Amino acid sequence: MAVGHSARDTFRNLYQSGVEMSQKPFSIGVRIEHPQSMINESQYGSGRESSELGAADYKLSYRCKNGRGLYTFCMCPGGYVIGAASHAGHVVTNGMSYHDRGSALANSALLVDVRTEDFSDDHPLSGIDFQEKYEKLAFQAGGSDYRAPAQRVGAFLRGTDSALKEDLKAGGNAEPQVPEDHLQQTYRPGVHWTELSSCLPDFAVEAMKEALPQMGRKLKGFDREDGIMTGVETRSSSPVRINRDETLTGSIQGFYPAGEGAGYAGGIMSAAVDGIKVAEEIIKKYRSF
Ligand SMILES: Cc1cc2nc3c(=O)[nH]c(=O)nc-3n(C[C@H](O)[C@H](O)[C@H](O)COP(=O)(O)OP(=O)(O)OC[C@H]3O[C@@H](n4cnc5c(N)ncnc54)[C@H](O)[C@@H]3O)c2cc1C
Repeated sequence: MAVGHSARDTFRNLYQSGVEMSQKPFSIGVRIEHPQSMINESQYGSGRESSELGAADYKLSYRCKNGRGLYTFCMCPGGYVIGAASHAGHVVTNGMSYHDRGSALANSALLVDVRTEDFSDDHPLSGIDFQEKYEKLAFQAGGSDYRAPAQRVGAFLRGTDSALKEDLKAGGNAEPQVPEDHLQQTYRPGVHWTELSSCLPDFAVEAMKEALPQMGRKLKGFDREDGIMTGVETRSSSPVRINRDETLTGSIQGFYPAGEGAGYAGGIMSAAVDGIKVAEEIIKKYRSF
């Protein structure tokens, strides 16, 4: 059974049927967008190579004073921020690039680690409740119409009401009013400019405020004033693990949980490899028949 990390109905049904599961740490954050030309220049330099090497990527990480790890994930060169919610009344971001990596903006998830101690209790499915809380807050902060809440990096870092007003003036809440000299965000159906701190845990806001300027020292312009942050990113991995024994069987005989939803993978390759490992165990067991 490889149902992915968003099959919340299935996780709940399995739990009620007595399948053993445990909590699992995961991550929360936002998508951050910058001009692809800025990333190219930072990675390649300003020479001719920049236009010949194709859209550049990056990977950044930082350890915050509060002990939280912060990292970029699923960087999409020349890409788009897209909606990835699986439930009504939730907003979730993700990212993708088309084959030509041709959009003017680069995006990446900017994630802070979420620990099981952050969950409200020790119920195995509490991580899902945690995800849902912030996905619902993002829906509300986005205007309750499936736009995503967004804020410019400068306004986020200043974190004051006046910064929010500047942001609203610059971006406008009714599209399309973004002045031409501002980056045009790619999320559809659009964004609502607001305070992202209203739909993120305090520890994540604190960590991002500390890390962004540091990341800007590693990749010039990463903390630029008009970078666009869109929230919330909650589905980089599963918040629950379906327990398996050494033969990769779940707590019910003949039941093989696999892939990202079972909590043993994060991303296409590791999910595929986990599927192969489970298939090998099944072959081993039933070969003699
Ligand atoms: C927009 C986007 C971009 C991504 N980009 C990348 C990337 O560039 N690189 C990368 O490594 N990863 C990326 N990922 C993550 C990657 O897609 C997942 O890590 C991977 O697909 C997990 O594989 P999986 O087989 O475990 O689960 P999934 O691919 O989620 O498959 C689960 C399947 O189970 C089905 N299912 C669920 N419930 C039931 C049910 N009750 N009955 C029957 N079927 C059911 C679902 O419909 C789905 O087809 C991206 C994800 C998204 C959303």
